[in-house]
Amino acid sequence: MTSVAVVGTGAVGSMALWRLAERGIPAVGFDAYAPGHDRGAAGGESRIFRTAYKEGPEYVPLLREVRDLWSELERAAGRRLFTPVGGVTVGPREHPKIQAVLAAARAHDLPVETLTGKAAQDRAPEHPLREGEVMVADPGAGYLRPEPAVVAAAAAAERKGARIARYTPVTEVRQDATGVTVVTGDGEQRFTHAVLAPGPWARTLLPEAPIVAKAITSTWFPRRDEALFDPERCPIAIRVGEPAYSCFPSVDGTGVKVNLHVPWREIDSPDALTRSVPVAYVEQVARAVAATLPGLGPDPVRVATYADAFTPDGHGLLGRQGRTVLAAAFSGHGFKLAPVFGDIVADLVESGATTRGIGHLAPNRPLRRSP
Ligand SMILES: Cc1cc2nc3c(=O)[nH]c(=O)nc-3n(C[C@H](O)[C@H](O)[C@H](O)COP(=O)(O)OP(=O)(O)OC[C@H]3O[C@@H](n4cnc5c(N)ncnc54)[C@H](O)[C@@H]3O)c2cc1C
Repeated sequence: MTSVAVVGTGAVGSMALWRLAERGIPAVGFDAYAPGHDRGAAGGESRIFRTAYKEGPEYVPLLREVRDLWSELERAAGRRLFTPVGGVTVGPREHPKIQAVLAAARAHDLPVETLTGKAAQDRAPEHPLREGEVMVADPGAGYLRPEPAVVAAAAAAERKGARIARYTPVTEVRQDATGVTVVTGDGEQRFTHAVLAPGPWARTLLPEAPIVAKAITSTWFPRRDEALFDPERCPIAIRVGEPAYSCFPSVDGTGVKVNLHVPWREIDSPDALTRSVPVAYVEQVARAVAATLPGLGPDPVRVATYADAFTPDGHGLLGRQGRTVLAAAFSGHGFKLAPVFGDIVADLVESGATTRGIGHLAPNRPLRRSP
């Protein structure tokens, strides 16, 4: 009989555990911490959901499908996890990322609108356009709540019979012809299959994989006007060009999150993550805010750093290798798709294959580890 060890119950592992449990497949999740913790890739209050996807049109069918899974998880949890405020991408009309959003929308017939002037001002007064800029509005976008979502998936899995070994780091996973052995401080356990979803700790279990962990810093700025950045109305925003960042509504009322898009710092392990950042970095974000977000106060009220795992081409690794399913390195944009990745993991465990298009995520595609 199938039995599955899910190593890591963060964004993707918790969803995999939930989807396996929904199918009645016995599974045990292992986590060095506990579902919903904020030391890995799923901390920091909010995550963007978008449908017109500049990272590649091959994600669009997965994005269409995942909305229903988010709704299913909301029903299971009895709370809202996704707020459909829409989204805007702002920047110079000819910028390659603006063009990539439009190309993804065209390829999949998504109802995006290109706005300028008063139409843009009315749609998102928080994000005034500069000379030569356009706003591409994606009505299917919004924001997700990461920590409650992971807690919800883990709880839904446990209600359906999954077990979670909390505060139990896995030190080794070995596979052989008949199954896998999972090694923890409590000893060895046998399963028929393993799912590896270790997020930014991937190097511990997968030292040869072309994966690096990087630190991403979020900053929260105060609102000058309480009518702006309303969490029920203000679209999430991505600004491309110079400066480049993502920006959220004021989710909890105290600050507006701005994630500056700069080359993120490589780290050995999230365990050694320095949470404080140099003052020069704070000044850099403050300059970007002063130049483009007049509705925000000058200095951040909160700064926090998180980690995610990245591949050299910016696409995750999702596929089956023998008795192990690898689901890792979603490269800074995996949260919105975590429920469908979890369901694909369940396909791969159950039948060894999936009907979903995940060729771009094949773990055996040519990838070189960055020097
Ligand atoms: C600051 C920031 C902003 C982001 N913004 C967005 C966004 O707006 N939209 C979006 O879609 N995506 C976004 N992402 C990306 C997204 O959040 C991640 O891709 C996603 O959370 C990755 O999930 P994961 O399960 O791979 O990793 P994690 O959620 O970190 O989970 C990994 C889990 O594995 C456990 N673990 C690791 N090793 C072991 C071990 N050996 N034994 C036991 N347990 C172990 C860890 O404790 C952890 O719980 C962002 C990421 C960051 C960091």
